[in-house]
Amino acid sequence: MGISWSKSSQAFARAKQSIPGGVNSPARAFTAVEMDPLFIERGTGAYLYDLDGNQYIDYVNSWGPMILGYNHPHVLAALKDQLAKGSSFGAPTEVETELAELIKEFCPAIDKVRMVNSGTEATMSAIRLARGYTGRDKIVKIEGCYHGHADSLLVEAGSGVATLGIKGSPGVTSNTACETIVVPFNDQPAVEQVFTEYGSEIAALILEPVTGNMGVIAPQTAYLKFLRSITKKYQSLLIFDEVMTGFRLARGGAQELYNIAADLTTFGKIIGGGMPVGAFAGKKEIMDYIAPDGPVYQAGTLSGNPMAMQAGLATLKELNDSQKYQKLAELSQQLAAGIEKNIAELDFPAHLSKVGSMFTLFFSKEEVKNYHDVQNCRLDLFASYFKLMLAQGIYLPPSQFEANFISLALSKADLEKTIAANYQALKQLRT
Ligand code: PLP
Repeated sequence: MGISWSKSSQAFARAKQSIPGGVNSPARAFTAVEMDPLFIERGTGAYLYDLDGNQYIDYVNSWGPMILGYNHPHVLAALKDQLAKGSSFGAPTEVETELAELIKEFCPAIDKVRMVNSGTEATMSAIRLARGYTGRDKIVKIEGCYHGHADSLLVEAGSGVATLGIKGSPGVTSNTACETIVVPFNDQPAVEQVFTEYGSEIAALILEPVTGNMGVIAPQTAYLKFLRSITKKYQSLLIFDEVMTGFRLARGGAQELYNIAADLTTFGKIIGGGMPVGAFAGKKEIMDYIAPDGPVYQAGTLSGNPMAMQAGLATLKELNDSQKYQKLAELSQQLAAGIEKNIAELDFPAHLSKVGSMFTLFFSKEEVKNYHDVQNCRLDLFASYFKLMLAQGIYLPPSQFEANFISLALSKADLEKTIAANYQALKQLRT
């Protein structure tokens, strides 16, 4: 194969001298696959190029935002225009309202939107608002769901925490952690038991409606409807963390796909079109509890900054077209069918889990329903598979506990190349 990653390795060695672990987010380290991370020089369409000049077909999409591919001309033009006017003013701009209006149009359960700078800020603020609004302290979260790195939510979290094998995190006090009750995904009796015992103390239940941060797992039939009805019964809020699924699974995210209206929704990734952004949103009576109208404080120097708003608006405008979702579905279907055929032909102990344009190849023969099942996957096989794919020019998330993303920039030929590489990798692992 003879691919060289020497410049990336040199850059990583240098970075480690000045940046903890050489990365500014642990998910970027290739710890679980036991190699140095690639340093990226540029991206175009569906492709990434590393410092060594290698080209990759990309399924990471900057962990979700780049649904249109890199350097989409409309996003680029919007950013250039805004840059010429100024990148941040710390004062209201009309583009913030325009983006909020488009989000409302896509998601009928939403009356008001507050912009922040990351998914972490979005979920942290949504939790504070839920506590302030209900006057209750406890929250229920689902094992293996990741909602960013705010203290209350860093309990049994997936993604980087799971990849590194960290259970909670030092620095999160036991007083904070004990207000977070954790239940397994897809387990109605566990939720029922928690609400029977603590219902009057629970401010909110938060989840990824389709999980991405323990790999892609679909909610079982009726699970989300059950969560909607039990939270209503106990007057707790239902928070859908759609940082990953928002504007990806459908124009209106998982709420449109499963026809459920959450009380609060958190966004990130796609609504920033590749710029740092997040948002929390919901019904008027709840959102009006936020300062300056309400007593729950939340703020941000760069919140709603015009560069991020323009990139997000340009991205959502592109997605305001059902044909785009049709195309995503066709691309996803083509890839899934090819990989499933390979698995069957090689009788390989793996299965593909897919919802919309998100998928994970689990190294487990049995269907994966929750975090426990993911932990029982063959992580060693995943690591070898990852390296074999990378050597063939396919860039995947470097962990079994992550989602792969399809972008609109992918061509059928890219998918065919990916399917062929998948066959070679699985065949090599089989022997
Ligand atoms: N919520 C979900 C579902 C996520 O996938 C992520 C990040 O991957 C977050 C929240 C945190 O977002 P950010 O990394 O922008 O803080």
